[in-house]
Amino acid sequence: MIEQLKILMTYLKSKYFIRFHSREVLENWQDKKMKNFLKNIVPLSPFYKKYYEGFSYDNWKELPLVDKNRMMEYFDTFNTVGIKKDEAFQIAFQAEKTRDFSPQIHDITIGLSSGTSGNRGIFLASKNERIKWAGTVLAKCLPYSILKEHKIAFFLRANSNLYDTVDKGKIKFHFFDLLDLMDDHIKNLNTYKPSILVAPPSMLSMLAKKIKTGMLKIDPQKVISVAEVLDPLDEKYLSDVFNQKIHQVYQCTEGFLATTCEYGTLHLNEDLLVIQKEYLDKNLGKFIPIISDFSRTSQPIIRYRLNDILTEKKMPCPCGSHFTALEQIEGRCDDLFYFRKKESDTLIPVFPDFIRRVISLSSDEIKQYKVNQVRLDLIEVFLEVSDDRKKNMKKEIEKNLERLCNQFNCLIPKIQYIHKLEEQNGKKLRRVERKFEI
Ligand SMILES: [Zn+2]
Repeated sequence: MIEQLKILMTYLKSKYFIRFHSREVLENWQDKKMKNFLKNIVPLSPFYKKYYEGFSYDNWKELPLVDKNRMMEYFDTFNTVGIKKDEAFQIAFQAEKTRDFSPQIHDITIGLSSGTSGNRGIFLASKNERIKWAGTVLAKCLPYSILKEHKIAFFLRANSNLYDTVDKGKIKFHFFDLLDLMDDHIKNLNTYKPSILVAPPSMLSMLAKKIKTGMLKIDPQKVISVAEVLDPLDEKYLSDVFNQKIHQVYQCTEGFLATTCEYGTLHLNEDLLVIQKEYLDKNLGKFIPIISDFSRTSQPIIRYRLNDILTEKKMPCPCGSHFTALEQIEGRCDDLFYFRKKESDTLIPVFPDFIRRVISLSSDEIKQYKVNQVRLDLIEVFLEVSDDRKKNMKKEIEKNLERLCNQFNCLIPKIQYIHKLEEQNGKKLRRVERKFEI
């Protein structure tokens, strides 16, 4: 009961009490929060204590950066709760294998972040952090009051004690394992009848197809896309089938970064984190986020450079929020394509969004696609479109690619069409993916 009360308190605080009347008020508030946070938390983490030696917290915006590699390298001294990397990995791998995600160390939940093998991250959340997280997520995502009934269906690669925290009182929470069979999902969803459906867009699309065939009979009041980039193509299809705006939650193991407002605009959760921008292209508003999460203490995330590319919105959102509005989440930095400049060895980075447009502008009737860059001079394209349209579409794609390359003065890579999508097996779908390292 105490836990429920605490969730409710965080919910109320996040929903009603923390309000900012201007960007300036928000930034001053964040500045105070950060200084306070650093003063209290840094002494508890041997890694940060040493890392920040000689730096003043007054200039916290300039403190040296960390990233996933550094965090994992110094894991044992990075966290403030004395958990060792080996022990944490052991628990996390065991949970993945048995699909029982309940074990924890003391009251700390261990989570494994996705990533290529050898590059997986471990994330920690204490009970208190889980409660705060639950209260905030509910405040930002529930379509109506916490005091009403909600049935959340949540599709994810792995469950976590984090999510069980939400399953309280009138709020029912059901975890659906992405690795389970589609037939089981349909059966369970038809019985459960969720009011809120949360899943990666690739899964939402599969469910939408089942709704269209009449096999799946659900009518959620809110549909939230998570974990993968929501492609405009999928967004349109999903909003047609579910007959509503598709919302998004941008949450990674590093933090709860952004949520959509009632207008469907993604806003950064700047009441939980400071998000600094490392611009890749200021005119286009494309940046890599550097996050500092002042709500997290067991594994402090301070000036942490994410591997994502975001695009800021040029026009203010009609909702009036002073939190930064995003046009879109582009994808990972690793999925920037690189083309060779004409008569030079220079490589030009090409944003995933440009590649998406090469495809989406070529036809209105495309159902599915995937573009992989496999070499500097070769891209693979998978298309799902009716046969009579395919030929025309290929011509359009080639034309659009040529136009894009000319714009950057680069050599045009060859296109190889592939006829099958690789198996996902619970992996995230990346419609635009670079398959080699630069
Ligand atoms: Zn808004």
